[in-house]
Amino acid sequence: MKKLLPTSTAGSLPKPSWLAQPETLWSPWKLQDQELIDGKQDALRLCLEDQQQAGIDIVSDGEQTRQHFVTTFIEHLNGVDFEKREIVKIRNRYDASVPTVVGPVSRQKSVFVEDAKFLRRQTSQPIKWALPGPMTMIDTLYDNHYKSREKLAWEFAKILNEEARELEAAGVDIIQFDEPAFNVFFDEVNDWGIATLERAIEGLKCETAVHICYGYGIKANTDWKKTLGSEWRQYEEIFPKLQKSNIDIISLECQNSHVPMELMELIRGKKVMVGAIDVATNTIETPEQVAATLRKALQFVDADKLYPCTNCGMIPLPRAVARGKLDALHAGAEIVRKELLAK
Ligand SMILES: [Zn+2]
Repeated sequence: MKKLLPTSTAGSLPKPSWLAQPETLWSPWKLQDQELIDGKQDALRLCLEDQQQAGIDIVSDGEQTRQHFVTTFIEHLNGVDFEKREIVKIRNRYDASVPTVVGPVSRQKSVFVEDAKFLRRQTSQPIKWALPGPMTMIDTLYDNHYKSREKLAWEFAKILNEEARELEAAGVDIIQFDEPAFNVFFDEVNDWGIATLERAIEGLKCETAVHICYGYGIKANTDWKKTLGSEWRQYEEIFPKLQKSNIDIISLECQNSHVPMELMELIRGKKVMVGAIDVATNTIETPEQVAATLRKALQFVDADKLYPCTNCGMIPLPRAVARGKLDALHAGAEIVRKELLAK
């Protein structure tokens, strides 16, 4: 029998201080050349061990080999000039200096496949690999070539599909696409965002997930959240169409967030990675708090489709805090698992 309530994390985990500056997004590497390659692999192994010691069921690389969940992927593509930077408003929220699309985009060779093979060799547990989604990619760029968000998204979807097929062949069990932009551009999501995501998963036999969150616990995001009112109903705009899509799993945030949990009813039938760990605070949840969130989620998600998870990536957190949160996630899931099995 498959394990009930398998735990996992949404994405990034803190890097060791000898590899990159802790608690920092886009932190530059502290090593170079072969030392950097070795250092990333060592960090990946440690990060895997942390997850295993904490009892996490579906493990990941914790994004130890990438500087950022979007830009590291884009860096490997043709047609994007990283020297030519423009300031754009990303997620309609904050200014960032981003690279420019200057010509047709394409993928010369695989981006993460060697890293995925490395992780696969370290463990026989199910592994999940995160890629940026097409809409979030175009939202982290300045486009001076296609001049159409939709056209560029379709191009990225094709490239992501090539990468995803190779990740599947490397033994990845779940491929996840990160689409925080889905929480902002509802009309585009419904017009072509979900369609481009389905293009990205075309022909895959492994499981697929989309992660839609309210972002890391950085100031631009916490300021934005203050403007959203007492009920965050963003998911309501896109869940009906996502429910009908071919995506297997939807990863969303719940813990300490103002998302009304009944919105999960709109994706009934899908597997749901329920965020039961808040990544915007250093306070470590108690197992009982995690259990309470999962119990509430069980009103709207069938037990065999509930995957306890974190709200988002944990790279901005101190390492010990992230580790404590992994332990809490495991312990909270265990409480509810026992309750379900006792029924
Ligand atoms: Zn996230």
